[in-house]
Amino acid sequence: MSITVLDHPLAHDLLSRLRERGTNPAEFRTLTRRLGWLLVIEATRDVLTEPVTIDTPMEETKANRLAEPLVAIPVLRAGLGLLDAVTDLYPDTVVGYLGMERDEETLEPRDYYAKLPPMHGRRALVLDPMLATGGSGSAAIAHVKGNATPTSISFVCIVAAPEGVAKLEADHPDVPIVSGALDRELNDVGFILPGLGDFGDRLHGTE
Ligand code: URA
Repeated sequence: MSITVLDHPLAHDLLSRLRERGTNPAEFRTLTRRLGWLLVIEATRDVLTEPVTIDTPMEETKANRLAEPLVAIPVLRAGLGLLDAVTDLYPDTVVGYLGMERDEETLEPRDYYAKLPPMHGRRALVLDPMLATGGSGSAAIAHVKGNATPTSISFVCIVAAPEGVAKLEADHPDVPIVSGALDRELNDVGFILPGLGDFGDRLHGTE
């Protein structure tokens, strides 16, 4: 599987609090941002660096500096919850937005809003917290591939379902997935079990 699931006590703790029914939207946002930091660190583990020579107060030494800036693409609206984590850690990140919805006639996901910046020389992180059926995630990645040429694309989520992972692996085997958890299954209306409910509603307080 091209999925990496965070295995860190802090990630487990943050996720357990996110899952809990009683967590209010303010706490939910903070927890998402903190778990987002861990996810973004994992997703950028192999980002390119370049050697530099610097002066410490003591002597000259060799060091490494980041050499592959990022583009973050939150999938509206839930993906907005992960955006601050990227820009906190990588302030030079440029941001594009994709809004995905289900076409009522074809039942296929389609983009209702897209604003993507140039991505040449940048690593793209597609941010979509709940990888459920994988339909919107796959369509979002396809949109990026069709409109831009980042150095690579990674998919960052909080919770993944096996069905969504299988869909992304089939449609985009070149795109690694970084997730906070791999849950059991989808229910018959496409919600992840045990999951955490509707991420967008919980993030934005619209339940
Ligand atoms: N989207 C959500 O917000 N939650 C799920 O469980 C599945 C999709």
